[in-house]
Amino acid sequence: MIKNTNITGITSLMQGVGRLPDGRAVFIDGALPDENVDIEIAKDEARYALGRLVSVNSASSARVDSDCPYYERCGGCRLRHAGYGYGLELKKRHVIETLERIGGLESFPVDIVPSPVTRRYRNKAEYPIIDGRIGVFDTTGRNIVEIDDCLLQKDASVTAMRVVRGRLSVENGYLVTRVNSKGELMLILATRTVSPGFLKEIKIPGLVSVWHCHLKNRPTHALDGRFTKISGSDTLNERLCSLDFELSPQSFFQVNTSVAERLYDIAVGFADAGGKNVLDAYCGIGTISLCAAKEAKHVLGVEIIPQAIANAERSASANGLGDTTEFVCADAAQEISARIARGERYDCAIVDPPRKGCDKTLLDSFIDSEIERIIYVSCESSTLARDIRHMTANGYHVDNIKCVDMFPYTHHVETVVLLSRQ
Ligand code: SAH
Repeated sequence: MIKNTNITGITSLMQGVGRLPDGRAVFIDGALPDENVDIEIAKDEARYALGRLVSVNSASSARVDSDCPYYERCGGCRLRHAGYGYGLELKKRHVIETLERIGGLESFPVDIVPSPVTRRYRNKAEYPIIDGRIGVFDTTGRNIVEIDDCLLQKDASVTAMRVVRGRLSVENGYLVTRVNSKGELMLILATRTVSPGFLKEIKIPGLVSVWHCHLKNRPTHALDGRFTKISGSDTLNERLCSLDFELSPQSFFQVNTSVAERLYDIAVGFADAGGKNVLDAYCGIGTISLCAAKEAKHVLGVEIIPQAIANAERSASANGLGDTTEFVCADAAQEISARIARGERYDCAIVDPPRKGCDKTLLDSFIDSEIERIIYVSCESSTLARDIRHMTANGYHVDNIKCVDMFPYTHHVETVVLLSRQ
């Protein structure tokens, strides 16, 4: 049965929020605030429903036609039916609502920095493979949509996907590509079997290394397994913020290089690192650490992936910053709380944790040591808000918040918060 509703809000997945006649909220993919839409109920739950958009009766002035033929079926982008600027506003609005609702902040001004590049901005792709079919996940995250192109991915990555598609027998796993600013390509095929023979002879323009990742029995992410280099160089190189970095296949790297530079400028600006003793928790390949080390007295970077720490150490030396930096491979909370308990002191901490946010032990050790400044870089506003609430209840004040659009047209957004001790 068709129902009609006005859209009054937006969810974290950028679904429009309407109301059913019985008062329940209904979440609708592809509907924008201020629209009137007809929907069918796709899923009926006790406290809410999911709606499928049937028609837009009165459209938002921000509505545009999607430029991607796979948009309705693919689970990747969620904002191609809105103009880019309006999508930014929606993301910002969602971050503010989350910081108010979960974080307890009151009407705090938030800016959002757009991405200088909105097409083919990703330097990393993860194409799932199910029973030999390669593409992207559909909106349920369970089935493959066999795409021929993706407007988020660089040409070398799309070419790699097409080449591998032609060579797959029955496989399950992922094709992961990384492409640097020069167009050099690192290709990693992750499967549950031994390395397929074709990897030895694969040819793609720009290809600098080929890897196989033998996935664990129950992998928790696309590259959760044992790596073997098939050919080429050990690392991919990238220049960022006038520094040279190296990157192993296991290491994390921000997916949008042009925005990563803006993000680091903001984070290091908030740190006001000149002459200071700086901590960079969850440091990855040491990108923030080295940006801060250009001015700081000393930077300690802590990261759990050994290959990323090796990348950070070699990049520090290559950039002449080896003497003012130290990198440790450890759990950030354990290592830093132990150092603080031993009496080490830092003027400022930059934290950039994974989605689940900071370990409470880490935040409590910052509170105990009365660290002056904390710069929190987050890709998940709900855990950011939870951690901010803890810090503001324990003597810290939010001085500045900036969002950065690392992931144009998706629902994801990066947020940087400056907290200072009262
Ligand atoms: N600041 C870096 C990396 C941020 S991503 C950059 O901008 O590139 C988060 C990083 O935290 C990843 O490199 C991940 O491997 C690391 N990580 C995850 N859990 C961790 C833990 N418990 N302790 C230390 N590092 C961890």
